[in-house]
Amino acid sequence: RKSGEPYITHPIAVARICTEEIGLGATSIACALLHDTVEDTDVTLEDIDRIFGRREKRIIDGLTKISGAFDLSTSDQAENFRKMILTLPDDVRVIFIKLADRLHNMRTLESMRADKQRKIASETLFLYAPLAHRLGLNAVKTELEDLSLKYTEPEAYEEISTKLRKSQEIRARFINQFIAPLKKELDKTGLKYSIKGRPKSIYSIYNKIKKKKVTFEEIYDLFAVRIILDSKLENEKTDSWRVYSVVTDFYRPNPDRLRDWITNPRSNGYESLHTTVMSPTGKWVEIQIRSERMDEIAEKGMAAHWKYKDSKKKIENKFDAWINKIRDLVENKETDTLDFIDDFKLNLYAEEIYVFTPNGDLKTLPKDATALDFAFDIHGDIGKKCIGAKINHKLVPLSHQLSSGDQVEIITSNKQVPKEAWLDFVVTSKARSNIKQSLKEEVKKIAEDGKATLKRKLSALKVNYTDKNVSHLLKMYDFKTPLDLNYQI
Ligand code: MN
Repeated sequence: RKSGEPYITHPIAVARICTEEIGLGATSIACALLHDTVEDTDVTLEDIDRIFGRREKRIIDGLTKISGAFDLSTSDQAENFRKMILTLPDDVRVIFIKLADRLHNMRTLESMRADKQRKIASETLFLYAPLAHRLGLNAVKTELEDLSLKYTEPEAYEEISTKLRKSQEIRARFINQFIAPLKKELDKTGLKYSIKGRPKSIYSIYNKIKKKKVTFEEIYDLFAVRIILDSKLENEKTDSWRVYSVVTDFYRPNPDRLRDWITNPRSNGYESLHTTVMSPTGKWVEIQIRSERMDEIAEKGMAAHWKYKDSKKKIENKFDAWINKIRDLVENKETDTLDFIDDFKLNLYAEEIYVFTPNGDLKTLPKDATALDFAFDIHGDIGKKCIGAKINHKLVPLSHQLSSGDQVEIITSNKQVPKEAWLDFVVTSKARSNIKQSLKEEVKKIAEDGKATLKRKLSALKVNYTDKNVSHLLKMYDFKTPLDLNYQI
């Protein structure tokens, strides 16, 4: 490697991340050890198939294809990214191993050339960290973000990490004071638990400073207190609410910030009970209450689920639903690829709300989703013909923003056609790409008529409709493409 270490240290490190930090099993370990062989040596996929097996061959094939994706120009990169997403449904382990590979490369980025460091770091921030988030790999995501910041904004990174180190003691004192009375009371309940205060990551502090225009001193003591219960599976929920009750006996909760992700887990599998309470010093503190099982899932994500049989089915269904949404998008070939990536990223980071169909089916949508997003989520054709909605039996416009718990009924009309203005208020990529595609089709249809008119006029003047003549017209009227010209006609 560039660092001077023997190459084998890399595949071994990637395999260790797969098992120790993501919780994957034997097949993934084997594939992690082999992940660069087909790309960098004479070993072929057939060799892998013969020596190891079908599954290993498929995973290595996926890994080899992905790694080719980022060596090309920007637009090809986009197209290759799309191809990579298409490999997602086959075997999600490909993505896990790729993330482990990227994590190790980020940890050892020190020995690369400065320009390469920046390129790899921005790629990581752009694609890999959101992907890790979506798969519920919180620890991996946080580390990828912090490491990326270190190379893309070295000065900001240095400043925040130094300040964090220096303020460690004050923070620890504040956390201890805050949790002391809770501990006393929780001990009386007989519940088995552990409690810890976690500071925010460097990257999330950096983001807050940038987006909210605040100083480090205003936010450095923001942190979450996590109470982790050692409960039996059947008692998890009841025990979590008992802890909630104790916490809110001491500190006043913000009623808008109660989140019950135990009853309705997020689509990446995250389960936890969250509340935000007012501390005696006048600062809001987020409290996360969860069982050991939920905590492992929160840190390690999807892979950890597979250890717990009971939740396996539930989570796989949610994951499949997400993959299918992405697949719908990717298979919509009309969508411009760069647009697609923007929309896709929107989906990766979105917070979620839960709403219901008139029959009581639960739908998960990103925060700020509107009635129109809901319509498109049900079906593209319902979205395109949507003229309004009833929320909890009250009539609302298409742009109405949904809240968790809403029951939504969509009203359609055959006369409706998608409007450009709709793009101003839809947030889901499914709605956006559907609307954009319909608008393009509409333009094409009008341009077809324009073209026929133009041909008629030209032939009346005894002029042929040839490429040469069309390009004269384009120049004359200052249009970029024949489509623009025909549409304006
Ligand atoms: Mn590698």
